[in-house]
Amino acid sequence: MRYDVLIIGGGIAGLTLAVKLGQSNVKTLLVEKDKKSGLIYKGELLQPKSLDILDRIGLLEKVKANGVVLPSIQFHEFERLDDSSLKKLSENEFRYDVIDSPYNTSLMIPHEKLKELLFEEASKYDSVEHIQPAKFTGFTDEDPEKKKALIETKEGSLEVQAKFYIGAEGRASPTRSAMNVEMKKTTYNHQFLTVSFPRPDSLDQSTIITTQNRFLGLFPLPNNEVRSVLLIKPGEFKTMRKEGLDSFYRAYCELIPELDGYVQQIDSWKKIQLMIPVRHNVSQYVKENIILTGDAAHSVHPMAGEGMNLAIQDSDVLGELLCWMFKTNQTDWNHLEWYEKVRKPRAEFVSRLSHQAALLYSFPYRTWQRLRIKGVQQTEHSSVLHYKQMLNTSGLGIWKFTIWDRMKQAGLLPARSNTKKISAKEHSVIFNKKDDYPWNVG
Ligand SMILES: Cc1cc2nc3c(=O)[nH]c(=O)nc-3n(C[C@H](O)[C@H](O)[C@H](O)COP(=O)(O)OP(=O)(O)OC[C@H]3O[C@@H](n4cnc5c(N)ncnc54)[C@H](O)[C@@H]3O)c2cc1C
Repeated sequence: MRYDVLIIGGGIAGLTLAVKLGQSNVKTLLVEKDKKSGLIYKGELLQPKSLDILDRIGLLEKVKANGVVLPSIQFHEFERLDDSSLKKLSENEFRYDVIDSPYNTSLMIPHEKLKELLFEEASKYDSVEHIQPAKFTGFTDEDPEKKKALIETKEGSLEVQAKFYIGAEGRASPTRSAMNVEMKKTTYNHQFLTVSFPRPDSLDQSTIITTQNRFLGLFPLPNNEVRSVLLIKPGEFKTMRKEGLDSFYRAYCELIPELDGYVQQIDSWKKIQLMIPVRHNVSQYVKENIILTGDAAHSVHPMAGEGMNLAIQDSDVLGELLCWMFKTNQTDWNHLEWYEKVRKPRAEFVSRLSHQAALLYSFPYRTWQRLRIKGVQQTEHSSVLHYKQMLNTSGLGIWKFTIWDRMKQAGLLPARSNTKKISAKEHSVIFNKKDDYPWNVG
């Protein structure tokens, strides 16, 4: 079997790439090892740049019809008093509409629904074939010209030859192992429990509720559901399970009493997923004709809600590049360097942001909470800091925080508000076509 591109892994990264290649008539095979999705919960929050990409591949209207548009994130900090009641310390809001872009919002969509929409779109194109379940187990040869991918299917083993092999298998990528690239890994002092359940009507915005030692993130989903993420200490899951589901309900209702009667609709521990955050970045995305995309290349701490977005954004750039290479008959793999040049620094930047956000919620000290409250308040109140925060999260551009910005966030310098709307053009901080696809200029 010979193809232009073999995509290994039918997650968000693999499917986004399959759509892009299909739309440009590139002969592609996608293999996915699972019959159906194993994990119940994965990334569901789409950031502005991903909405822009989904618009360009013609899926934004369908995504909007199956999702909930969330224009801001609300932050509520509380102090637990001696009688165990909660006293509100602060309330802040980060708004996407400070960014001057038509895609200045976020959107929640069930992970499997987004995969279904991408799969439907990829299946429209005759140039895209698909085998599922089909598991990639390794390569036959080191030589890129002779190399074939070994695929196990229900009918037996296949050897697939392609000009380019894409590792899109997520965190435990066998393609990455075959490439033998270095990988830096960060682990954390906390874990998360994640689950979706019905929500009260009042819960209609992304909301983060924190005390000195608790973190609960709530993100509205369609059909009056909400996806929740509760930060716990390692080992706490075991203790909670021993105590029974009441201990889990209590953790939620103490922070938001309105959830009483809703969270109890989770009737089994089986529905609650333990999530162990890990951050990794590989040293190389490309080796000869093998390329990594999505979680195979990097995974980020889930605090920033960026993992799925990086996967979409990687596959957009990689897809554009491969389509250009086939269209212009320049299939020499040296051109693949462009993909790494564009995507690696951006993914590493977002990864650092996710790490910093994680640290802000990692330590249960009073001074740490005060610092966090100050940082969020100063960021909201300064138009430049607010803009930078939302732009850097959005994927639409990068405007780095300076040492002065960090001092303002820490309250060491005043954070000034400016009524004049910030223009991205003036500061050249939003990526343009030349930044995204620099090989194709002119
Ligand atoms: C519990 C959890 C919660 C998360 N929450 C968020 C969030 O809130 N926001 C966010 O942005 N991100 C979140 N993420 C991360 C996000 O889901 C991932 O970043 C995103 O799914 C990456 O997409 P991917 O396609 O690269 O990898 P994956 O989604 O992991 O897809 C990889 C695919 O490859 C297949 N595969 C693996 N090995 C093989 C093989 N040998 N042969 C063939 N196929 C193979 C797998 O079955 C899978 O379908 C979360 C992740 C988890 C696990």
